[in-house]
Amino acid sequence: MIQTISSKNIITKMGKENKPVFFLESGESVKLETLDCFGNRFYTETKDFDKIRGYNPATGPIFVNDAKAGDTLKVTIEKIELAEKAVIEFRYKSGILGERVEEFDYKIIKMDTECAYLDDLKLPLKPMIGVIGVAPSGEAISTVVPDSHGGNMDCNEIKENSVLYLPIYQDGALLSLGDLHGLMGDGEVGNCGLEAYGTVQIKIQVLKNFKITNPLVVADDKLFALGSDESLDEAIKMVSNDLVDLLVKYERFKAIDAIRLISMIGDLGICQVVNPKKTVKMSLSLSILKNHVFK
Ligand code: CA
Ligand code: ZN
Repeated sequence: MIQTISSKNIITKMGKENKPVFFLESGESVKLETLDCFGNRFYTETKDFDKIRGYNPATGPIFVNDAKAGDTLKVTIEKIELAEKAVIEFRYKSGILGERVEEFDYKIIKMDTECAYLDDLKLPLKPMIGVIGVAPSGEAISTVVPDSHGGNMDCNEIKENSVLYLPIYQDGALLSLGDLHGLMGDGEVGNCGLEAYGTVQIKIQVLKNFKITNPLVVADDKLFALGSDESLDEAIKMVSNDLVDLLVKYERFKAIDAIRLISMIGDLGICQVVNPKKTVKMSLSLSILKNHVFK
């Protein structure tokens, strides 16, 4: 039977000093209950709105018994189940459109398993995981910030049936996740998606002979390199270089051939532009890769 980790076990920083709340072998699955990025506090009786922010709790961390620093963690997103309601909120000067938000605004939105209901609009859900990551190499990193360990990447490709690859920096990896979204446009320009709580089932595997420096995702027969930086330009350089390096190292491309290929068929996209570091994605069709570990 697959065990469930309760959302009572939350962290707000990913770091090596967090005590594991669950131990797992490579190849096993587990379910995690998660709170929304506000700690579900929009649903409580007393609403102190000034305090409901910058919280972003993640459930975990999970210690993977065979994971060693330098390995890669493969996380298969087996299932995402959302609650029947979610919330979206806006504040003055928060996000790209924040200048236009005159006063604090929030809306609780009904969902079923298929759709979210925004006034008379019926919007098909696209459930995804906003925050997922391991303990970084150095100091602990807030769950509000994305970086090479993962974190608050807010990437729409991290969804049901996708596979995320994370570099492992600490023995045990110490994986945590949270901040589910029922819907989020690429960019998350209002600084908020349709913020949801729910349950995620993942399968975890440790890869010993595949080394990466930033997260990768496989979704919809595409490989995505993910990169986060204060500067969008730097994040774009990061994902472009990561794909070239991957083609050179694991597919035996010459660098110039990899550059030629990526320039012709690599697609650059935005994950989010509102967190302390912005996150971009660059994708390549999986059919190009012959020797890859993504089969
Ligand atoms: Ca987020
Ligand atoms: Zn969120």
